[in-house]
Amino acid sequence: MMNQPLAIGIDVGGSKLEAIALDASGRELWRRRVPTPRGDYDASIAAIRALVEGAEAELRVERKASVGLGTPGCLTQEGLIKNANSNWLNGRPLQRDLEAALERPVRLANDANCLALSEATDGAGAGAPVVFAAILGTGVGAGIAVHARVLEGPNGLAGEWGHNPLPWTEPDEPQLACYCGRRGCVEGWLSGPGMARDHFAAGGDVLEAAEIAALAAAGDAACNATLARYEARLARALAAVVNLLDPHVIVLGGGLSRIERLYANVPRLLARQLFAAGASDAMRTRLAPSAHGDASGVRGAAWLWRDDAK
Ligand SMILES: [Zn+2]
Repeated sequence: MMNQPLAIGIDVGGSKLEAIALDASGRELWRRRVPTPRGDYDASIAAIRALVEGAEAELRVERKASVGLGTPGCLTQEGLIKNANSNWLNGRPLQRDLEAALERPVRLANDANCLALSEATDGAGAGAPVVFAAILGTGVGAGIAVHARVLEGPNGLAGEWGHNPLPWTEPDEPQLACYCGRRGCVEGWLSGPGMARDHFAAGGDVLEAAEIAALAAAGDAACNATLARYEARLARALAAVVNLLDPHVIVLGGGLSRIERLYANVPRLLARQLFAAGASDAMRTRLAPSAHGDASGVRGAAWLWRDDAK
């Protein structure tokens, strides 16, 4: 029989529901992955409930675990999900319905906020007062953790950097239309599809971002040039973040965060873009890949109740 507090985190992805149970020290005690019941809201609630009850039964907990959920999209003040690519969740009161199904309070945060919380708690930003965490993947999202707590803001928008415009654009950088209704968003340049589009627009082959990165590492000149343009844009977009927030650590997650050369090249380019940058000024902000990799989203979801467990 387990008497210590158990923290369950669930990451709601488009294709899978991933669940994890952590003890108070962050040790992983249990993990499960099931397919997301795509398109079926009620079945999604039932699947999440089965995961929570399964963990509690297998770990024989004495008191109910805390439950945190990482969701796509963002949350309205009324607790409704919007802008999720898992569109059957949009406009649904997921938090209220889960609290009823699980008979306990439930906390929700979007996946980028979960990344920031996970990495600030015991990952690449552990101990840092301010952590900015960005997901560079199919889309681009970001979150901010201050003293290992998610900064949300009254609109729930803190960290929505992916839909700010790419700053200091060059004449050959078109203002691309974005699905969000605006033009020139960071996501259009720094997502995987954004890199692939840019490579093709520069005369390259139709390749995915991971293929471009692999070919660049093998010495392909065109792919190297694409990565250099990507690094320069990432540096500009992050310089705007540093000028505004001046975080101690910037953590990168998502598929493109696995490109190792970013960590050597982007800080140098970024330092040059900062306000009042001088040749002798070293940038103190550290750029690091997520320490927990793909598990950061689900770990951050579990940590949404961490302050209350102390
Ligand atoms: Zn946009």
